Amino acid sequence: MIVMKFGGTSVQDAAAINQAAEIVGGRDARAPVVVVSAMARVTDALLTVAQKAKERRFDELKSSISELRERHIATARELLSTVSEIDGVERGLQELFSDLEGLASSVATLGELTPRSQDAIASFGERLSSLIIAAAFRERGIPAELIDSRAFIISDSNFTAAAPLMPETESRAREALLPIIESGRVAVAQGFIASTLDGVTTTLGRGGSDYSAAIIGAALRAEAIEIWTDVDGLMTADPRAVPEARRIRVISFAEAAELSYFGAKVLHPSTVLPAVEKEIPVHIYNTHNPACEGTLIVNRPRPSRNLIKSIAFKRGVTIVNVASTRMLMAYGFLRAIFEVFDRHQTPVDVVTTSEVSVSMTLDQPERLEAIKRDLSGFGEVTVENNKAIVCVVGDNLKFTPGLAARLFRAIESTNVNMISQGASEINLTFVIDESDVEEVVRSLHREFFAEVDPEVFD
Ligand code: ADP
Ligand code: ASP
Ligand code: MG
Repeated sequence: MIVMKFGGTSVQDAAAINQAAEIVGGRDARAPVVVVSAMARVTDALLTVAQKAKERRFDELKSSISELRERHIATARELLSTVSEIDGVERGLQELFSDLEGLASSVATLGELTPRSQDAIASFGERLSSLIIAAAFRERGIPAELIDSRAFIISDSNFTAAAPLMPETESRAREALLPIIESGRVAVAQGFIASTLDGVTTTLGRGGSDYSAAIIGAALRAEAIEIWTDVDGLMTADPRAVPEARRIRVISFAEAAELSYFGAKVLHPSTVLPAVEKEIPVHIYNTHNPACEGTLIVNRPRPSRNLIKSIAFKRGVTIVNVASTRMLMAYGFLRAIFEVFDRHQTPVDVVTTSEVSVSMTLDQPERLEAIKRDLSGFGEVTVENNKAIVCVVGDNLKFTPGLAARLFRAIESTNVNMISQGASEINLTFVIDESDVEEVVRSLHREFFAEVDPEVFD
């Protein structure tokens, strides 16, 4: 069997859902399990609903929910023609919307939005889309069965970024999904959402539907995991920033993980873990161009003649510097600093140190003021906003002396704040001003991809 995951733009409207149905129908011999995202932009809209509820902006809240309702009902009506499917789906949608309204009004009553209620609200996107998609598949001859992922993706209670409890998830997923597969039906499950052991709804973090697909693939020992999205595959750079970006035919799990961690949002960073452990190949395909062969992610791809595989970047990064002569010859200093970030549950991406200073980057500045206050006990704290991380990735980085010199020569007029080479030795990461990022990525792309190895790139 295979797992096929369709992202937000791949199910954004009736036309996209039709396309997805055609793609799934073409794979029926491979026993697909389908994982779907919310329709494009719906999760963002739900998070806005949650904020508006908290701020008790009742008029805006009401109109945001009705917009969502209209969009889903219109899509269902456009896709469905049999009376029984239309009735069933419309009833299901109305029930979901009245539950959503109930939740929003309890958040408004309390005037408080906990991560737990935020997840409950965010979960509606996938629950709504999957209801419509399963019915549309059935009308198009696919024996689809809607199934609630929260019955078998069991997670910890780290709301908004929950992690799966794998042994529990594996046994429940097999129990829930194998009978459906064995009877020749196609399970349609929601990405992104999960449940604690006590049955409380959680989410796996933004972009988490990819992760859901990998979790299910690992649980069922799938032959392959297919991530269907809106680009031809993993590219040498985000095609929105670099129009001439090339498709990567094959890439290693390690390279793909570094890229997604540092900003290539085509894949959720945790996706590769479950797949690596079970050695399940992951494909990335384009829903709007299904004939393209996409990108294949495997353990050991053939070596490439190009020095790097891809360039990722992440905007909206903040640098926090701590400078103190007390660091000299002292031990325990770094531990104490990192404990501050730990306490505020704020991940640090890039770290550089000198004898008397430490610099760290964050992309979640919510707790910045409190972090600054706590760090001020260690030395002088300064903050630099509007930064971006750029990360070049490739297995060949390990073996190529002089790469850094070549890289920084290509962007020599740019002011570089921090430079770091990961211990994995397959990435070189640096931090620059956000306003320079597109120019820098394009320059690097010209430098490293003027010619490409046709075996590895398209
Ligand atoms: P989905 O909704 O299908 O999950 P996402 O929007 O999460 O899709 O991810 C796809 C997007 O990732 C693309 O539209 C592209 O702009 C962006 N992207 C960023 N870096 C890359 C890259 N290196 N290769 C391909 N796409 C990338
Ligand atoms: N709908 C979720 C999000 O927008 C999960 C996903 O699409 O992967 O983050
Ligand atoms: Mg995504």
